[in-house]
Amino acid sequence: MANKFYLTTPIYYVNDIPHIGHTCTTVIADILSRYHKLIGDEVFFLTGTDEHGAKVAEAAKKEGLPPKEFCDRVSKTFSDIWPKLNIEYDYFIRTTNPDHEKIVQDILEKIYKNGDIYKAKYTGLYCIGCEKFITETELFDGKCPLHPNREVVKQSEENYFFKLSRYAPILIEALENENSPYHYRISPESKKTEVLAKLKAGINDLSISRAEVSWGIPVPWDKTQTVYVWVEALFNYYTATKITGRGSFWPADLHLLGKEILWFHGAIWEALLIAAGLALPKEIFAHNFYTIDNQKMSKSLGNVISPQQLLEKFGVDATRYLIASSFPENNDSDVGWKKLTEKYNADLANGLGNLVARLAKLCENKNFTVKLPLPEKILGEKELASIRPGPALEKIWQQINLTDRLISENKVWEKTDREAETVLTEAVKNILQIGLSLRPFLPETSAKILDQFSGPEIKAQPPLFPRIS
Ligand SMILES: [Zn+2]
Repeated sequence: MANKFYLTTPIYYVNDIPHIGHTCTTVIADILSRYHKLIGDEVFFLTGTDEHGAKVAEAAKKEGLPPKEFCDRVSKTFSDIWPKLNIEYDYFIRTTNPDHEKIVQDILEKIYKNGDIYKAKYTGLYCIGCEKFITETELFDGKCPLHPNREVVKQSEENYFFKLSRYAPILIEALENENSPYHYRISPESKKTEVLAKLKAGINDLSISRAEVSWGIPVPWDKTQTVYVWVEALFNYYTATKITGRGSFWPADLHLLGKEILWFHGAIWEALLIAAGLALPKEIFAHNFYTIDNQKMSKSLGNVISPQQLLEKFGVDATRYLIASSFPENNDSDVGWKKLTEKYNADLANGLGNLVARLAKLCENKNFTVKLPLPEKILGEKELASIRPGPALEKIWQQINLTDRLISENKVWEKTDREAETVLTEAVKNILQIGLSLRPFLPETSAKILDQFSGPEIKAQPPLFPRIS
């Protein structure tokens, strides 16, 4: 039987519209999903939108819309853009889905009955931008460092609390000991270190309900409160398996996300799952951010890059390539229109595009008719399996350069048809392997290359990636 592989992107918060950050996580997830399909796994790939909370209610009010209508509209900007990038997700979950709401209520009720939830009064500073309490030490000039334009508000209310503190030792053990029944991985290593340090420094219990936020899921045993949006949102990864009849896919094999939400995914989520008696995800992978020409990307700087802009300039496969090759795996990655355009011209118009055009022309001129089978192995497999799309692409591009040299050094164009055959056979074998290896990354280009070179009569075609300025 096939291995199952369940991977998720975060569900994106509907107070924002899609930008290159969301695009990065989602494209990489799609590449991994396609890779796992290619090696024969049975894949479930989930994405979606996170739709409750004060911030959404506030944004809806500003637009003069009821919250649900506002969510419908913004959620659609996400679900519409992903297919244009050839993202083949299997299900798009929305946290306003009544089934999600019901399952979350059932799970919380269970945790409550088990004694891990209690009521207490809490006073603290709250950042609506982050939708979370913030401590004095985290403030910068009296403001949330991520939201310097908004005031933090003092909130004092009776809430329900989850006994998160009690789980710290269990989580430390789970991360450090592979034999722990709760073992899970956080990658890259630096992110695991970060979570462990925070756990070891001691953690507080977590407020998991709000008395003043009505746009949310009611706490099942106390309808005067709604479930804290973050807690409820995390459960989407589980509820989606139930909603779609894919219960056997739980636990998730991989949660892919940006590092700003690592703590929720790398500690709080696991504690909640243990409390609910559910299995833990196998791996959490938290990537860094893009900077735009060495500046933080922000609305106020006006340098936000959208997937629509990328598609318009580069087209779908090139966008996927540019995202994957600059993936901020462990450190921030700097992009910008100039850099992206240079990379497009160097790697796609010149590198890959040139080789394909050159080789096809030679095959045509030299009447090359050898039909070759598809290769069995893809390049960069080890790298892709460990979520390193950049190095996987480097492996493929090494093969592109090597094949280019093979043609040049043998001066194939000067040879007779018969003499050219050996070198062309080798070169076409390589290009078929390149084509197949590109399948998870550039599905359309991959299909074109495999079509063009599967023989018997190889013909020149229009350029795959025309140069752009
Ligand atoms: Zn904030």
